[in-house]
Amino acid sequence: MRTIEHWIAGKRSAGISDRTAPVFNPANGTQQADVLLAEATDVADAIAAAKDAFPAWAQTSVSRRTKVLFAFRELVNAHAQELAELVTDEHGKVLSDALGEVQRGLEVVEFACGIPSLLKGEYSDQVSNDVDTFSFREPLGVVAGITPFNFPVMVPMWMFPVAIACGNTFVLKPSERDPSASLLIAELWQRAGLPDGVFNVVHGDKVAVDAILDSPDIAAVSFVGSTPIARYIHERGTASGKRVQALGGAKNHAIVMPDADIDFAADHLAAAAFGSAGERCMAISAAVAVGSAADAVVAAVNERARAVKVGSGRDSGAEMGPVVTRAAQERITGLIGTGVDQGAEVTVDGRGYVVAGHENGFFVGPTVIDHVTPDMDVYTEEIFGPVLSVVRMDDVDAAIELINANPYGNGTAIFTSSGEAARRFQRGVQVGMIGINVPVPVPMAFYSFGGWKDSLFGDKHIHGPEGVSFYTRAKVVTARWPRLEHANDASFHFPTAK
Ligand code: NAD
Repeated sequence: MRTIEHWIAGKRSAGISDRTAPVFNPANGTQQADVLLAEATDVADAIAAAKDAFPAWAQTSVSRRTKVLFAFRELVNAHAQELAELVTDEHGKVLSDALGEVQRGLEVVEFACGIPSLLKGEYSDQVSNDVDTFSFREPLGVVAGITPFNFPVMVPMWMFPVAIACGNTFVLKPSERDPSASLLIAELWQRAGLPDGVFNVVHGDKVAVDAILDSPDIAAVSFVGSTPIARYIHERGTASGKRVQALGGAKNHAIVMPDADIDFAADHLAAAAFGSAGERCMAISAAVAVGSAADAVVAAVNERARAVKVGSGRDSGAEMGPVVTRAAQERITGLIGTGVDQGAEVTVDGRGYVVAGHENGFFVGPTVIDHVTPDMDVYTEEIFGPVLSVVRMDDVDAAIELINANPYGNGTAIFTSSGEAARRFQRGVQVGMIGINVPVPVPMAFYSFGGWKDSLFGDKHIHGPEGVSFYTRAKVVTARWPRLEHANDASFHFPTAK
């Protein structure tokens, strides 16, 4: 059995731990590797490597840092297929989807290639006699990223390209379920000319995460994962004096208005609910069918759900792959069962789905549940599988109220041909990312990504301008180069401009 090791100070490291976790191929259910689970000492080694590398990297000119980023961009692009294959084989998503994830990660690298412009400061001339004031931003030091299983390339790339471009050094703790892509990324950084120690990877579980959270040598933590862990990371990280941005789970609603093009809405709803087997934090998991739209929407979505081509992620004809683990498969099918028990109507049932030739794979078929009410488990739980719940509402205001009563606030969308309804929606919903006839409104890399409420703890969204702000801190300099006639104007009162 292959062992997946850490990457510390520019090379693979076996560390001291003998604890491991199995890494499966979800398409056939077989274990393909063991990943090491770091002990606190292993994490300390990675942090020490990053700490050693920090002074020189922070002093490296912004032009030289940018050159490394451009070289990294070329290498990721050249290895996109290889990265996507690693993702498909450990996560399960279909290869075209994995390639899309690499592309969206690459866009953050491209954003970070513009770091000279992004780090420009401000300058005010002659704020007082012979006095100028200017500001600039400096890196924080060693920063860490803790990432989820569902985007093993893109989500880490929301973090480290920006952090490293700003002059920080980085420790990544990727998901233990699909850890391999992070090691290829580490090798690509090295080939791009990044000094050893600037980018490190430690694999692990809570032990590794807690060692990161408690380390006095880590200045900031970016986390993406489920809400209970996000809340924990934020509390423990801030308690030890760190900057923390912790992105959590989601329950994303899409409103379908009676004036929407129902076929267009159904095509997009199905893609947003079943793409990546629903394992996207921006997946649509609740369709809110308004008024007379409901029957037509359910009929059209049922038709699409039945037509989804489910198979191994390596099968070029497949549109949807398996879910990540046997435990996830069991949890999702169990939740569908609660929908039945609690009085909803399962119109397309993905339980017991078998893909020929992949009988032991972790498959759940596309599932549609109609007549869902807000008290049911299928509504309150983040199912994180290919399950679309349909809630029926009378009008757009009731639909907005439903969304606002939900504890999550990651993404949401409306399908409508009415500008008035769209505008009322965009202004009224308490959600961070909003789509108008766009079901998965993930912002481009030059904007920042983040939800509201229980979908994000901390005050900065990730990547884009807020990412640069998160990974740097400001200095404001007030400088005087006095002319002789002004040299002796010192006084004991609090300084004011002259
Ligand atoms: P998770 O919360 O189980 O794991 C995320 C990370 O936390 C992993 O690195 C894991 O090793 C670590 N972790 C797990 N349990 C821990 C514990 N008890 N103590 C400390 N660390 C722990 O999430 P997941 O299952 O890997 O990913 C799916 C979740 O991530 C979903 O809830 C999804 O909505 C969310 N997600 C959110 C976004 C977003 O942008 N808001 C993006 C992607 C995924």
